[in-house]
Amino acid sequence: MKQILNFIHGEFVPARSQRVFDKLSPLTNLPLYQVAEAGRPEVDAAVAAARAALKGDWGRMTVDKRMAMLHAVADGITKRFDDFVAAEEADTGQPHHVIAHAFVPRGAANFKVFADLMKNVPTEAFQMDTPDGRGAINYAIRKPKGVIGVISPWNAPFLLMTWKVGPALACGNTVVVKPSEETPATAALLGEVMNAVGVPPGVYNVVHGFGPDAAGEFITSHEDVDAITFTGETRTGAAIMKAAAHGIRDVSFELGGKNAGIVFADANFDDAVEGIFRSAFMNTGQVCLGTERVYVERPLFDKFVSALKARCEAVKYGRPSDEGSNYGPLISQEHKRKVMSYYAKAVEEGATVVTGGGVPEMSGELAGGAWVQPTIWTGLPETAAVVREEIFGPCCHIRPFDSEEEVVGLANANRYGLSTTIWTQNLTRAHRMAAAVEVGITWVNSWFLRDLRTPFGGSKQSGIGREGGVHSLEFYTDLRNICIKL
Ligand code: NAD
Repeated sequence: MKQILNFIHGEFVPARSQRVFDKLSPLTNLPLYQVAEAGRPEVDAAVAAARAALKGDWGRMTVDKRMAMLHAVADGITKRFDDFVAAEEADTGQPHHVIAHAFVPRGAANFKVFADLMKNVPTEAFQMDTPDGRGAINYAIRKPKGVIGVISPWNAPFLLMTWKVGPALACGNTVVVKPSEETPATAALLGEVMNAVGVPPGVYNVVHGFGPDAAGEFITSHEDVDAITFTGETRTGAAIMKAAAHGIRDVSFELGGKNAGIVFADANFDDAVEGIFRSAFMNTGQVCLGTERVYVERPLFDKFVSALKARCEAVKYGRPSDEGSNYGPLISQEHKRKVMSYYAKAVEEGATVVTGGGVPEMSGELAGGAWVQPTIWTGLPETAAVVREEIFGPCCHIRPFDSEEEVVGLANANRYGLSTTIWTQNLTRAHRMAAAVEVGITWVNSWFLRDLRTPFGGSKQSGIGREGGVHSLEFYTDLRNICIKL
């Protein structure tokens, strides 16, 4: 069976322990390939390679050459577009159009956008008076932070990994990446592109494996890793923060969410239905920015619920390659068990199941996959577990509201604060609402519309720090002030 290896110092290497684990297809639960599981020796070697590369050709490279190299990486991804799409489809089982039109092209863009940004964003300068009247001048320069540990999740693996690797490299750092154990393929493939375009060995390293007491923790607790950027569950973020405390390393966290979608009666109805449908069910609901709580102004409530129900019942299950299929499985049997436990809990808590709530009937090999139905509930109090907790599945609870004040209170009564999507034609209200909802990212009459120059991150327990645009440069560089007495 095919094996995916670690990528250390420009070479694909197995684990010294010879340990491997199987990657199973979400579509069928059959093994796709084996993955070499990195232990401490591989993580140590990757960190050492990354440290050495900072002092080698990469560290000495002019900014212009580095930026040209990152453009070449983006072009190299585009050249092997079909391979990246196929790898991501196999790992996640998600529909072709999502991967080919959003996740892979945006992943390539992450290298170009941050390369251009790094070249064009100035640092600050201040003149100051001094007692002798001659004055002084201050200016700041940016230096790479060093070796960056990148820990990424499985839900949009290539996009979320490159969203960190792109700016980290643009700023002159080196990286040790641990992709999710569920989705190692595209991170490995990127190693081939790095070699093909001449990125020096040790700049980009990948180690595969699990989190606690495994490759993930070996990176986050490694004393020679200078900063850690992590996307994943809030609980994992807490564990990583503890590990990062040793040696006082900086962290950037993009964590969980329980995002509210808010629909006013004056919204463009069709746009709102389609927008909420995408936000709740795209990628089988496995999007951190997705909507799991929907609040609809009362006069529109019944009409909205039936339209969303109809939209859910029209999804076409299938393999990414199947003509017209637009709905994939969950990532794994383990995640399916978690989502199904919430489906059962919703019923126990007294929900009205508007649609779904179970497992679709699939035939042939697909019968073994991690399929679940898109699900809508109504009638639950805000205290219900499925209304409070992140499920990360294709489901939402819909509740009516009567006033702007009420819906702001409902949206904010949650420990998470990642994103929201608000649907209304009244733009004065939209501005007011957007400022009142406690989240890092608000979309009005849209969802998941991303300009990579904008701040991205979560409020409350949805994250620490912001990445995107200059904010990425803030995290991935050490800003140094130089004061010159004139
Ligand atoms: P996860 O936290 O289980 O795993 C994420 C990564 O962390 C994996 O690579 C995993 O192996 C690693 N890991 C786990 N425990 C670790 C430890 N103790 N030390 C070091 N590494 C460890 O998350 P997941 O299930 O892969 O992803 C889904 C979660 O990610 C959801 O909560 C979702 O909301 C969140 N997410 C957030 C954003 C965002 O931008 N805020 C984006 C995507 C996903």
